Amino acid sequence: MSSTAQPRCRQGPVKPWPYRTAVRSGESLSSWIARLAGGLEVRPGTLLSFAFGTKQIVARQDLDRHPPNEVLERLAFGASTSVETLKSATIARYAEAIAGEIPHKGRARWLMPTSQVTSGQGRFSQQFCPLCLGEPGGAYMRLYWRLAFAVVCPQHGVELADRCGQCQAPVRHFVSSNVTACWKCGENLAHSATAAAREGLISHQRQLYFAAERGWGFMGRQAIGSLPLFDITRQLAVLCFRGKRSHQLRTVLAHRYGINPEPYEPTAQRAPFEYLPHSERLRLFDSVARLMEAWPVNMWVLCEDAELYRSFAIVDMPTIPYLFQEAIRPLDRTPYKATEDEVAAAARWLRRTEGAASYSRLRELCGESRLALYRNKDILRQSSKLSRFQSLVNREGPAT
Ligand SMILES: [Zn+2]
Ligand SMILES: [Zn+2]
Repeated sequence: MSSTAQPRCRQGPVKPWPYRTAVRSGESLSSWIARLAGGLEVRPGTLLSFAFGTKQIVARQDLDRHPPNEVLERLAFGASTSVETLKSATIARYAEAIAGEIPHKGRARWLMPTSQVTSGQGRFSQQFCPLCLGEPGGAYMRLYWRLAFAVVCPQHGVELADRCGQCQAPVRHFVSSNVTACWKCGENLAHSATAAAREGLISHQRQLYFAAERGWGFMGRQAIGSLPLFDITRQLAVLCFRGKRSHQLRTVLAHRYGINPEPYEPTAQRAPFEYLPHSERLRLFDSVARLMEAWPVNMWVLCEDAELYRSFAIVDMPTIPYLFQEAIRPLDRTPYKATEDEVAAAARWLRRTEGAASYSRLRELCGESRLALYRNKDILRQSSKLSRFQSLVNREGPAT
């Protein structure tokens, strides 16, 4: 039952609507509104204009993202449900597990852009599983299908779709007469053809699904919080999509697994992969699944072959999860540089055991830390002319 106060509109207090329907398991708010409107025998846009007036244009917002509280309150009252129930049908349900936070506006990690545009065809941004839609009581859109890493149905193991199987139009359930009917040709989306996904991709997609639902998952055999798991997954996707060595990586993936090595379809204004159509993201996350197979061994082999070393692998990562740091250590190709303290300790040890700390012995022990080596080495013979490094060392004073 609703815990919200009775809202008012210009005409006075509003009454609950004569038709009500519960939010179904995993349903998105936009889908629920579309079904509610269907039960009231109006279009979703008409219902929203009736409830909020035509000035606010609520129907044009991405209602699955962060709908304003007053919208949720009005809808909860009208349908005799609670604001919390409606909120759990929005991206707030997954935000913490997959991205930490989803901003109210602009591009958002993992969330596909809204399809509720009022002009033109709309975007291919609402996916669906025809088998889920065809199940008894399953004719509604799942919030999970709005997430860009979801390319396979975790229940049925078939590839998701993002367009009508009959006329190829994108899904726009807000302008359709029925949430599962194509807005353009009226075909039932549940009748779209399905294709079984590759077994390894299915199990990887199930892992991502459970991580998004539970807040933790696995990298290889190690348990990991869902947030670092999705950070690593995203980085691997970016490396294949548009990274500095993405071309080499795609070539290696093509050679080993026959994945199409072509560059990904260009997106407007270098938009992130969330804007790619399903067919392109299917290829992308099939590549990611290959990279994460037998973690981290497969990634080592593939990255080695692609000459994709540590510095490329972590590029543009705001924070590098510990498990990723550990996993990519073997891909490090930068020579180790000993610190001043380490060189000084090595020099003391050489003096104690060998009588003197020569440059060549220090270099054997400490690698290429030239300045530190010159500061700590013993002068074994007096050179007539000071080298550039020796002058630099003298100018900076003795080593501490
Ligand atoms: Zn399904
Ligand atoms: Zn159609």
